[in-house]
Amino acid sequence: MSARTAAPALSPAGTRVFQQLVRSGDASRTALARDTGLTPGAITRAVRPLLEAGLLLETGDRASTDGALGRPATMVTVQAGAHQVIGVKITADQLFGVVCDLRCRVLDEVTVPVADHAPDAIVGQIVDLVDGLRAGRPEVGSVGLAVSGDVDAASGHVAYSPFLAWHDVPLGELVAQRTGLATTVENDVRALLTGERWYGVGRGISSLALVTVGTGIGCALLVNGQVVHGSFGVAGEVGHVLVDPEGPLCHCGNRGCVEAIAGSAGILERMAQAGFEGLGIGDVADLARSGQPDAVRVLAEAGRAVGTGIATIANLLGAQHIVITGEAIGSSPGAGVGSGGEQDYDVMDPHVRSAFEQRAFGSAARSEIELRPLRFVDWARGAAACAVEDFVTHYGRS
Ligand SMILES: [Zn+2]
Repeated sequence: MSARTAAPALSPAGTRVFQQLVRSGDASRTALARDTGLTPGAITRAVRPLLEAGLLLETGDRASTDGALGRPATMVTVQAGAHQVIGVKITADQLFGVVCDLRCRVLDEVTVPVADHAPDAIVGQIVDLVDGLRAGRPEVGSVGLAVSGDVDAASGHVAYSPFLAWHDVPLGELVAQRTGLATTVENDVRALLTGERWYGVGRGISSLALVTVGTGIGCALLVNGQVVHGSFGVAGEVGHVLVDPEGPLCHCGNRGCVEAIAGSAGILERMAQAGFEGLGIGDVADLARSGQPDAVRVLAEAGRAVGTGIATIANLLGAQHIVITGEAIGSSPGAGVGSGGEQDYDVMDPHVRSAFEQRAFGSAARSEIELRPLRFVDWARGAAACAVEDFVTHYGRS
């Protein structure tokens, strides 16, 4: 589905060097040889086609020195703006689009309301959004799309996306045909994880779990340095880990899943049962902060359910770092979701941590837990990171 322009052939070693440089921004030839295990001659051969294509630049006048002889180090730097990508996060209400460079720095962004969920309508809106963002930017060469649900990243098909009511939509193919740009499609949480792996806390670590707490509870896993896709497109479904056999009914048909207790709908339903109708997640957090007992109890239960769920991940995978984020944890004001403020996560944080410490077995409790708010631009940036990954990994390959 690619409209990729012809690129000079790149060896597997060249791909490794390119990946390393896109992660770090720049490196001396000596550091590249050390980090990739390649000889200096192999590094020279690896970078040559990328230098010729204008994707890398060599400079020899850096102040730092190379080795004991004190020679000036030859630095190799990514020309990050030479290939730009557009990332789009698709939600039921809005499309969030960004243009990023190869270092995934956001150069421009746009938000478009969505009214019609039919695949043709959303594809048309994506094409318009892409055309708008690429105007005057000839460097834009690829598109990454992120959507929640069951996504086959290899084919670009959305097998099932519940909130859009999509079944078997060849999204990547449709957008590639109409934009003429190489297009990747990924599950939204795995896209976020890809961004962390390339540019965030995932750099340099081999096991990372990313959990999103919102309408649903999403999870993506990095194990042994690889993003886990699961044999059937499902893996790391922490949202449906059982935490209370007597708990509330989950939409999956079971009782007491993490998602039934900590998902936005579950939280709001239990607040409604306590007499608080029509609230958003941010309102519940505000009530809890003011000491309202029902809000305190409901968010404490939600935090404990999340903590128990991530303890299960730590016990199974020994993840080094676990990031918990999402709209129920905190989102940017005006980002179109609830009324969440930047600090909503402070309410759940102690409950997540105490349940985790209680349930994590032995050394699994050493996993670093990080709760952080999620901005919608981060979702779109994750989609852009998938497009960068695709470009770098397949550059110069047929
Ligand atoms: Zn469930």
